[in-house]
Amino acid sequence: TVECRSVRKSYGEHEVISDFSLSIEDHEFVVFLGPSGCGKSTILRMVAGLEDITGGDLMIGGRRVNDLDPGDRGIAMVFQNYALYPHMSVRENITFALERAGETKDMIARRLAPVVETLGLQVYLNRKPTELSGGQQQRVAIARAMIKTPEVFLFDEPLSNLDAKLRGHLRVEIARLHKELRSTSIYVTHDQLEAMTLADRIVLMNAGRIEQMGTPEEIYSRPATLFAAGFIGTPG
Ligand code: ATP
Ligand code: MG
Repeated sequence: TVECRSVRKSYGEHEVISDFSLSIEDHEFVVFLGPSGCGKSTILRMVAGLEDITGGDLMIGGRRVNDLDPGDRGIAMVFQNYALYPHMSVRENITFALERAGETKDMIARRLAPVVETLGLQVYLNRKPTELSGGQQQRVAIARAMIKTPEVFLFDEPLSNLDAKLRGHLRVEIARLHKELRSTSIYVTHDQLEAMTLADRIVLMNAGRIEQMGTPEEIYSRPATLFAAGFIGTPG
């Protein structure tokens, strides 16, 4: 489980997350949906242990995120801006974590093949990230996360820079992957179609707070606030 208890985050005087409480069950796929600047990435970075928590508690599997081993929090994250290693090839970017964990060459090759196939990265394996388009880099970032089997998957708008066709394709792949691995997943987006198709539960955010929570069905058929009603149904 991932547990947020009255989590707050401020930058100086500016509070960007206020009293954020949420409990995410094992195997659940939760989508954080909300407009630009509402705090989605901030929450995700705090769950990943990449950002200090100003107040409240954040636990993964019953342990405080800040107490977990930074090298092994059991988390795989796909960032909004990919954050690939520029000096490594695509192949090395994808397999780095497994190599560092001391996995055998055989095992790494076995894990690499289906991931590369799924994301159509075969021809790019020996290139550097700088030699790829934004969309291709994003696929490498997804591959790098997919090759691990983390306790928690964190996705920060992983499909935002892709064309519609690839976005649709990867949306289906991510859903399939979740069915297979059943990793607990938090997926940030402002794309309502992604939220609808992927989420067990949608957390609709507005200005650092939870506006409404529920299944896609509940959110779309019974928006609870004016904000929810206004946000849902307007194009992403
Ligand atoms: P988007 O959909 O555009 O990615 P978001 O919901 O992910 O938006 P965040 O990146 O979490 O939004 O930002 C939430 C708020 O925190 C914004 O008002 C942003 O300006 C502010 N913020 C984020 N990072 C910092 C920082 N390092 N210093 C100061 N303010 C920050
Ligand atoms: Mg963001």
